[in-house]
Amino acid sequence: MTAQPPAQAGQPAIRRPALKMVIGGKQVSGADGRTFDVVSPVDGRVIARVARGGAEDVDRAVRAARQAFDGEWHTWSQTRRGQTLARFATLIRDHLEELAQLESENMGKPISSARWEIGAVANVMEYYGGAANKLMGETIPVSKPGFDFTLREPIGVVGLIVPWNFPLMLASWKMGPALAAGNTAILKPASYTPLTAIRVAELALEAGFPPGVLNVVTGPGAIVGAAIAAHPGIGKVAFTGETATGQEIMRAAAGNIKKVSLELGGKSPNVVFADADIERFAAESPYSVFDNCGQDCCARSRIIVERSVHDKVVELFAAATRKVKVGDPADPATEVGTMVSFQQRETVLDYVRIGQEEGGRVVVGGGIPADPALAKGAYIEPTVLDRVTSPMRIAQEEVFGPVVVVIPFDTEEEAVRLANDTPYGLSGSVWTRDIGKAIRTAKAIQSGVISVNCNSSVHAEAPFGGYKMSGTGRENGMHAFESYTQVKNVYVDLS
Ligand code: NAD
Repeated sequence: MTAQPPAQAGQPAIRRPALKMVIGGKQVSGADGRTFDVVSPVDGRVIARVARGGAEDVDRAVRAARQAFDGEWHTWSQTRRGQTLARFATLIRDHLEELAQLESENMGKPISSARWEIGAVANVMEYYGGAANKLMGETIPVSKPGFDFTLREPIGVVGLIVPWNFPLMLASWKMGPALAAGNTAILKPASYTPLTAIRVAELALEAGFPPGVLNVVTGPGAIVGAAIAAHPGIGKVAFTGETATGQEIMRAAAGNIKKVSLELGGKSPNVVFADADIERFAAESPYSVFDNCGQDCCARSRIIVERSVHDKVVELFAAATRKVKVGDPADPATEVGTMVSFQQRETVLDYVRIGQEEGGRVVVGGGIPADPALAKGAYIEPTVLDRVTSPMRIAQEEVFGPVVVVIPFDTEEEAVRLANDTPYGLSGSVWTRDIGKAIRTAKAIQSGVISVNCNSSVHAEAPFGGYKMSGTGRENGMHAFESYTQVKNVYVDLS
């Protein structure tokens, strides 16, 4: 599979011509020897050729992971698992620049963002390293005279399927708790962005995880991902990606009643009341939707603003948007790089066209940057669409690009109704100086994450996940940790 358009004739030799999967601690080719090309969206170059796994390779990985689970790994204390995760965190930090460069080149995200993300990956490993030996059972005063206690046990082999927008960071949200809880794992990265997953599996071995504890199988989602979702040897599948894919995974997982956690799409509201610090909102919020070129499930892609300050908010937000620096991801000053692919850019441009046909007005952006220096990459302008109403497709569907719509409201009740008026419920923000209004609105919005007077969605220590069609289950914090365990109740007859 070619994840991007084919490379240009005469392009330089591929720097990583034969990247392999990691199964049972070994680098292996796919069972049928096929490969796929990974193309950088920065300039259309093929930057790697990667083993293309299939169902047979998933089977091989499940066997290796099961063998590891039943073997040495099973005898490790929780403390030892935690210490190894801490070593893994240190190794990731030692290789931060290498991993960040890979992520930036592969995905087109600014190097400054990639560095931050790899640092966050190390922090997640450290968090779960510390948490590993703090998972405890209970003693329960049952009505009989015996002794009742619970154990929190690992599930076994777990499948971790991740998307391309924050490739290693979203993988870490699953690997950290899965390994800390004593499972063995098969990680399946997105076909656009497999490079850091392969590298980090090598670092996991260097950190001291036994072979087979962390496996990476690369290849098409419809084959490798589907095989993971359906495999009877896998006890849990943790997925991040599109809602439609999540639905397929849920159906496939029914075969052996797998535990399922799904982190899916979003269309998050940024609710701005007239009494808010409008200047601060406008200065900070372009980041909340244009960061990562809008390819962020938490993107605050709907500004729902009180009518009396609508014009001022649009003016200030548009001015701040014009200042966003779109450019070469390798430049440390760049704030927005490319989209992950040229195809994805086409999808986003289509949405902008649809939004205009529906009656929306482009206030800023709406096209491809004119700068000839950016002509070779999948760049797109940060875009603000005004005069949008909630029923429009541009206000309902996840664009997954740097596009924000502005919808006015008149009352607090209407603000909440509009905020809740999509099938999604992942994150959102509320801006007001009235604490009562802030908390009422935060409670009334049906989503898993809400920020007040900021756009901060994610903390390694706190639960993250969706309401409604944005998913089920939680990532991060102890909520995620527990979801990679199963509870056993033991009753001992003392008579
Ligand atoms: P996607 O659903 O196309 O792919 C995600 C992963 O699933 C990839 O690894 C892909 O290869 C695999 N896959 C594809 N088809 C599959 C199938 N039939 N069975 C099993 N696996 C399959 O999503 P994407 O385009 O990579 O990512 C973008 C989407 O991810 C957006 O909708 C975004 O909102 C969502 N997302 C959600 C969160 C969150 O935490 N809620 C975070 C990031 C991205």
